[in-house]
Amino acid sequence: MLAYIGLGSNLNNPKEQIKRSLISLNEDEEIEVSALSSLYKSKPIDGSQQPDYINAVCMVNTHLTALELLHVCQRIELKQHRVREKKWGARTIDLDIIIYGSQVIASKKLVVPHPEMMNRAFVLVPLHEIEPDINVPVLGPLKKLIDKIDTSELIKL
Ligand code: ADP
Ligand code: MG
Repeated sequence: MLAYIGLGSNLNNPKEQIKRSLISLNEDEEIEVSALSSLYKSKPIDGSQQPDYINAVCMVNTHLTALELLHVCQRIELKQHRVREKKWGARTIDLDIIIYGSQVIASKKLVVPHPEMMNRAFVLVPLHEIEPDINVPVLGPLKKLIDKIDTSELIKL
């Protein structure tokens, strides 16, 4: 199965946090990281006083189910000492499943495609870098999604 994972960090050396997460993902025997976007810098989405974010999107090849993949992501978040503060608060690392094959999932623990992806330049633009022609389940062609949002504040590093 092909899946796409969004990575974000704005604490404790964000670039290093993202690198460590990618290494951990790849170290899982059931996961192969097969593509990686550039790193991007973005402003906190709620406009609050917290450091800028570093974001990236990777493509993974995996035999895990979506829920199993989520659990791996959550283990990596814990390993990197993610402290859960308030919603949208600063965090050492956030791993979100953006897309999982063509599956559409809406359970308590997992919603895929990620419900906020169409609003987030820091997800759509890096995804476009690695998969420009993708048709997102339910949401449609990625290019059309990007046309609808403001990407001017996102900085490619
Ligand atoms: P956010 O990513 O919205 O800032 P969290 O990372 O704290 O917030 O995630 C909160 C919950 O979101 C997790 O406990 C997880 O079960 C749920 N969740 C739902 N859909 C997804 C998804 N596609 N990827 C990652 N987590 C998800
Ligand atoms: Mg998350």
